[in-house]
Amino acid sequence: MMETIEIAPYRDLCTDCGVSRTKQPKRCATACQFIQPNYPQFEITTHGRVREMGDSDEVFFGTYLQMYRASLKKPLEGAQWTGIITRLCEVLLEQGIVDAVIAMSSDPEDKWRPQPVIISRAEDMQVCRGMKMGYAPIVQYLEQAKDLGYQRVAMVGIPCQVYAARALEKELDFEKLLIIGSPCSDNTTTENFHHFLGLLSQKPEEITYLEFKANYHVELRFSDGRIQEIPFLKLPLSDLPKDFFPTTCKTCVDYVNSLSDITVGYMAGTGEQWLIIRNERGQEMAKLLEPEILLEALESAGNRLGPVKGFMKNVELAAGGLPLQRMPNFLRSIFAWVMPRFGPRGLEFAKARIEMKAIESVIHLRSTAPHKIKNMVPSHVWKLVRTYGLEPRKEELKDSRESTYS
Ligand SMILES: Cc1cc2nc3c(=O)[nH]c(=O)nc-3n(C[C@H](O)[C@H](O)[C@H](O)COP(=O)(O)OP(=O)(O)OC[C@H]3O[C@@H](n4cnc5c(N)ncnc54)[C@H](O)[C@@H]3O)c2cc1C
Ligand code: SF4
Ligand code: SF4
Repeated sequence: MMETIEIAPYRDLCTDCGVSRTKQPKRCATACQFIQPNYPQFEITTHGRVREMGDSDEVFFGTYLQMYRASLKKPLEGAQWTGIITRLCEVLLEQGIVDAVIAMSSDPEDKWRPQPVIISRAEDMQVCRGMKMGYAPIVQYLEQAKDLGYQRVAMVGIPCQVYAARALEKELDFEKLLIIGSPCSDNTTTENFHHFLGLLSQKPEEITYLEFKANYHVELRFSDGRIQEIPFLKLPLSDLPKDFFPTTCKTCVDYVNSLSDITVGYMAGTGEQWLIIRNERGQEMAKLLEPEILLEALESAGNRLGPVKGFMKNVELAAGGLPLQRMPNFLRSIFAWVMPRFGPRGLEFAKARIEMKAIESVIHLRSTAPHKIKNMVPSHVWKLVRTYGLEPRKEELKDSRESTYS
């Protein structure tokens, strides 16, 4: 059975995660990652401990037990990568580990527009394959699932949705709630995304797939089977309006989805997927896929310092109001730097992107919503940006009595 609920418009500094549409919309005050997030608290309730804050890679990737380069032995057609997320949800339903999965299908009128669904049969999971661009109120569907009587539930979500789901988890009181997350960056409204597709192709309606790859190319697939790879450098970013990426997505602070039980991305995967197993529930889920999945050690090469510094310079120029068309293209500097062969790869590439996102969030918050910094930026993000000379100002830090890692 598949249930859907009507979708309403997007609002500023809100990604319409769904909390505002639940029976108690005032819960946004405590459930929103843009208001007063408390990552240490939810790391403890979710993983049993906070991330390590010393020299540990957990400063970048959040709490984890294992990480792998991963791919399904038989990739699923229509999936974003090999389909690890879809297959995992199918197995959860096939084996009766959960009664329902809440994930994103597409709007029937627009394949790029996300639409949450509650799925109770493994064979229906295929409608959720692939990335959509935009926001949709998936957390409301958690409440709906509870109302429908589902007790053992899995949810697939991006970080701003997963934060809210964790905040409501205790109240919703499911017998079992498994959260499969993906990293997320540079999301935008579906309308803006269509504009971007229109700049990439004369026939944007024929584009069926888009992904930013770790080889510094964007891969496009077309309905006639054609595949096109565009170097980041040649993307028409200077033709995009200044507000193409909403403030929400330029300032969010949990790129790696640190509150999911298992995270499935690609950044450290050197051309394959990247699995972050965060806790025992994540471990159990990964075990379910054992016969079908290839797991390998992650690689790491290159040095990220130069590209991240170049990126930071350009974010500062953009935040200072320099028009995008005249701004040196941040990707140009990354690309030029990596071409000679020292480019960050694997874990180093993932760290570079995570630092870039942290830098972008702090700089954009300072220029657009400085009053938000104190409550929105967790201490691990300050630790990441400090390497590049970004120090928190006094008014940007929480009082010691408030919740931080240290
Ligand atoms: C907006 C967005 C940005 C991303 N950015 C990064 C990134 O910067 N780095 C990185 O490593 N990975 C990123 N990812 C994750 C990556 O693109 C893949 O989705 C992930 O690696 C899983 O691949 P798969 O083949 O296993 O997924 P599939 O089996 O194809 O399943 C995809 C799943 O993604 C969910 N989904 C699709 N679109 C949305 C959406 N708009 N909102 C919420 N959920 C959605 C669906 O519920 C579905 O279950 C991003 C994903 C999204 C949705
Ligand atoms: S909790 Fe969700 S719905 Fe509420 S303000 Fe935040 S993003 Fe928007
Ligand atoms: S970039 Fe951040 S705010 Fe935007 S959709 Fe992704 S997780 Fe949410």
